[in-house]
Formats: sequence, structure tokens, C-alpha cells
Amino acid sequence: MADAQIGVIGGSGFYSFLDDVTEITVDTPYGAPSDSLFLGEIAGRQVAFLPRHGRGHHLPPHRINYRANLWALRSLGVRQVLGPCAVGGLRPEYGPGTLLIPDQLVDRTKTRAQTYFDGVPLPGGDTPNVVHLTFADPYCPVGRQAALAAARGRDWEPVDGGTLVVIEGPRFSTRAESRWHAAQGWSVVGMTGHPEAVLARELSLCYTSLTLVTDLDAGTETGDGVSHEEVLRVFSQNVGRLREVLFDAVAALPDNVDRNCLCADAHAGWDLGIELP
Ligand SMILES: [Zn+2]
Repeated sequence: MADAQIGVIGGSGFYSFLDDVTEITVDTPYGAPSDSLFLGEIAGRQVAFLPRHGRGHHLPPHRINYRANLWALRSLGVRQVLGPCAVGGLRPEYGPGTLLIPDQLVDRTKTRAQTYFDGVPLPGGDTPNVVHLTFADPYCPVGRQAALAAARGRDWEPVDGGTLVVIEGPRFSTRAESRWHAAQGWSVVGMTGHPEAVLARELSLCYTSLTLVTDLDAGTETGDGVSHEEVLRVFSQNVGRLREVLFDAVAALPDNVDRNCLCADAHAGWDLGIELP
């Protein structure tokens, strides 16, 4: 089996990441991930890239097999994951092109498998125990600092912290929903940040979300609200510099064996009942 240390899960408009890659398919007890995994190297680090929606964007957010995606990355040796994604801005100052590195998450999804520890036996394997992990701080503090420093190093002043609210989709928010999200003090709205972050934590992976604002959601009182074309257009305008930031962030992450963040110890005190890959 090929190996990798760092995973990058690319979102809408971000289907290729590395130029010189080895494509491999990985199967998991939860089924197939969104696509093949693409292995390459950045600054001497082995990186696995996975297009979150599959090549050609054939998977809507609620049908992405998040459990298979994270499991597949971990089975290759990945312990740190960067998750760029397109989001809507919930404040006027977070206009298109804003890069926000969230430190909090609100789950408003409805239908997604969001745990490995559901007491259901793995095919031909053991049965995971019921486990309640701490999730007060959903993102890796080390990964966040690497992402922030990488953006600043590319003259792209990021927003340090904020709350990502994740909706079920695939539709965008109504104006009322968007006003309500903003009134809660939440910062940006997306469709894929959950359960990606919590599943990463359950696998003891470091996970960092890099959100790129592509629109102002439905929050503006005028206009027609956000469209998918608008999201893709703004994302494509920024994908080049986001790629540079991700490269620099990958290079700045610690070696996996040197992790000393809360994510690395996520399972302390718990009997999982299963062997993680
Ligand atoms: Zn961590």
C-alpha cells in the first residue's frame, strides 16, 4: 500500500491539486471514497489529494461518503488533513475572496452518517464501541496556525477564527435562514464541513478547514441570491492562490510523529472496539 502523511480534500472548483501524481483506488469498510486518491510530494512531504465531490462534481454534499473519505486517507498513513471549501459569507465584510480559517462549527445537517462508533459491526470485522469524544474545539490548533501563516506569507490576510455553519443542501439558504445564521453571530455557511471535521477527530486526525468566501449567501436584501455558477466563478478566480497557501501550509505542518495537539490524543481513555487503519 502506498503511503502519505498529509491529506488534502479539495472542494467545489478544486479538482486537481498536484501536478505529478500517482492515482490509486482505496476501498474501505464503509465503501468507496469520492474518487481515486492522488499521491504526490510537496516540500518533501507525501501528500494524498482527494476531490471531495469526485471529478466532475458528481456527488452533492449530502451524498459524499465522508466516512470512506477519511478512513481511506488514514489507511494510507495520513494523520493531518487540510480541508479547503467554498462558503457563503454571513457578514458584509466577508466578501468574495475572503479566506477565513474557522475555529468553531455549527452542525445544521440532517441526513449524514457522522460517526464511526455506532455499534454496527464492520464487514467481517469487529464492532465499534459507543464512544463520545470531546469536540469543544473542532479544529487542529497547529493546522490552523500553519494555514494562517501560509496565507499571510502570500499577502492574503486571512480572517483568524469564526464559526462555520454547515447546512444540509444541496440548495442554498433562504433569505430568512441566512439572516438567522448571521444573527447568531456565525461567520460563514457551507455544506461539507460537517461531518468531515468530526469524523477526522474520531480517527484522531488533525483537521483544518480553510474556507474561501465565494458569495454573500442570501444575506443581501437585493439581487437574486447565490447561484452555483457564481460559486464556481469566484472559486476559480482564487484557486491559484489557494493552492499556493495549501502548499505552504503542508510544508509548515509538523511531522506526524511530532504531533502534540488535542487531535492526536482524541481517544485517550476510550476503548474503541475496533482497530483503526
Ligand atoms: Zn492536531
